[in-house]
Amino acid sequence: MKNFDISSIFNKMADLLEIRGENPFRIRAYRKAAFNIESLGKDISLFSKEDLMNVPGIGSDLAGKIEEYLATGKIEAYERLKTQVPESLTELLGVPGLGPKTVALIYDRYRVKDIAELAKLAKEHKLLGLPGIKDKTEANIIKGIEMLQRASSRYPLGRALPVAREITAHLSEHAPVGRLDIAGSIRRWKETIGDIDIISTSRDPGAVMNTFTRMQGVREVLMKGPTKSSVVLKEGIQVDIRVVEEDSYGAALAYFTGSKAHNIRLREIAVRAGMKLNEYGIFREKDDKKLGGRTEEEIYEVLGLQYVPPELREDTGEVEAAAEYSLPRLLEPSDIRGDLHVHSDWSDGNMKLGELADVPLSMGYRYIAVTDHSKGLGVARGLNEERIMEQRKAIAALNRKLRGTRLLAGVEINIRSDGSLDFDEDVMKGFDIVVASVHSGFKQSGVRITERIVKAMRNPYVSIIGHPSGRLIGERDAYEVDMEKVIETAAETGTAIEINAYPLRLDLAEPYIRRARAKGVSLAIGTDSHNRGQFGNMAFGVSLARRGWLEKKDVLNTRDLKPLLATLSAKRRKKSS
Ligand SMILES: [Zn+2]
Ligand SMILES: [Zn+2]
Repeated sequence: MKNFDISSIFNKMADLLEIRGENPFRIRAYRKAAFNIESLGKDISLFSKEDLMNVPGIGSDLAGKIEEYLATGKIEAYERLKTQVPESLTELLGVPGLGPKTVALIYDRYRVKDIAELAKLAKEHKLLGLPGIKDKTEANIIKGIEMLQRASSRYPLGRALPVAREITAHLSEHAPVGRLDIAGSIRRWKETIGDIDIISTSRDPGAVMNTFTRMQGVREVLMKGPTKSSVVLKEGIQVDIRVVEEDSYGAALAYFTGSKAHNIRLREIAVRAGMKLNEYGIFREKDDKKLGGRTEEEIYEVLGLQYVPPELREDTGEVEAAAEYSLPRLLEPSDIRGDLHVHSDWSDGNMKLGELADVPLSMGYRYIAVTDHSKGLGVARGLNEERIMEQRKAIAALNRKLRGTRLLAGVEINIRSDGSLDFDEDVMKGFDIVVASVHSGFKQSGVRITERIVKAMRNPYVSIIGHPSGRLIGERDAYEVDMEKVIETAAETGTAIEINAYPLRLDLAEPYIRRARAKGVSLAIGTDSHNRGQFGNMAFGVSLARRGWLEKKDVLNTRDLKPLLATLSAKRRKKSS
């Protein structure tokens, strides 16, 4: 899809304009368009100019630029901009904590062009003395560079998975593949991935290799063999494909799904039982008789283990549990009854309430919670008391027309920097559900930020803590919250903790999900959808919950409407008793 190309150009244009100190409205327009294009969920090259102008944030000027790109592969305005500001400077903007003004300043003084040069300057303390740069700024820049370098060798799952799916769809259509799977850490739904691994069977492996290496979007063919090839895509992701024998398919799939640590444990068990396990199958040691390998299930069975779902294969206790046949019965996508974190166009989403009213039915849900931002979040057009009351009325009117499904009247309320909330109790008690989230003051000390969240959880009307760690994968580390304390307080107060399914958040990380489960805390999966295409992100949330060993009963939104409402009001009653 061309969506990625166009949105990355728009983002780069915004970066370059920002470095030049241009009109903030123009810059924001590019960013907003980029965001909306990326989350379209449909191939933009199929859009007419009229369709384009129906995409929020795209007027005739930007629609024209998109058309220009689709027709010529270039955007003239972008080419011009690059002659004025070196494009490599946008790389510097990727350093967390380094803003465009500072980048412009450093560039004017030292003509730095890339991160390596910047790192050198920072380490030699040459940035000190530039206007606005203090010891601490310099230390933050060094820290930011390190974080960026850690992240850049891995890709967020949310970016890699759609690409992998596009490739397998292309192969299914254009190559003689039999069985075909995405293996590797994507299959385990790990939050970041190193490269994409694809396994398949075929009666004509050579044809598969040809189709694979000639795909659109391949930047470089690293290796092309008779049954195995590797390419690098334009986005920089490496993709490997292997065609294997039908008879070894399960063994290959298990081998290339990993994790390495899990596979090492399996091989040890095999050896102890006088067998050997590799990517071709499982064999009896003494005479090499093949005991299995066609399917993964066969391998686990021969080893005397319960089948381990890919999400659990991390060697964090699953092998022991599989030996006792006591793995959890993991949450399934079909267990989900609703979405508990959704934005409408009353704040920063782009769906009308009327459109949201159709979502439960189309997703097979009983309910979704409308949780727009509260007034403190000005940039997201947060709602004040008056607007919230109006919205509740509009939701109630829609609910009168719905049969069997329901919109819950909620809010994503801002946890202010002192832990107080945007609304008073008399407004709070009118909500069906309240998600409370931190959207500012990320750099507060661990103690302060933890106190802040704990204070919010003690509010009887707060149902869920939203995106509890604040991380954005590859962009922003979690704030220094003491998650252990948050989990304890959640257990004590009956507050649920969110698993935010937005692919760049995937917040909470799975070790904490397991901790929360152990403490009896309820987890609430929400997509944080801002447009229609994002409801499908529930799959990320469910898989993350599975990685955290959750069962249906551990998840708040597996409940039907009535038990859900009963659970939500239980916390409020606790307060009055
Ligand atoms: Zn939020
Ligand atoms: Zn939100």
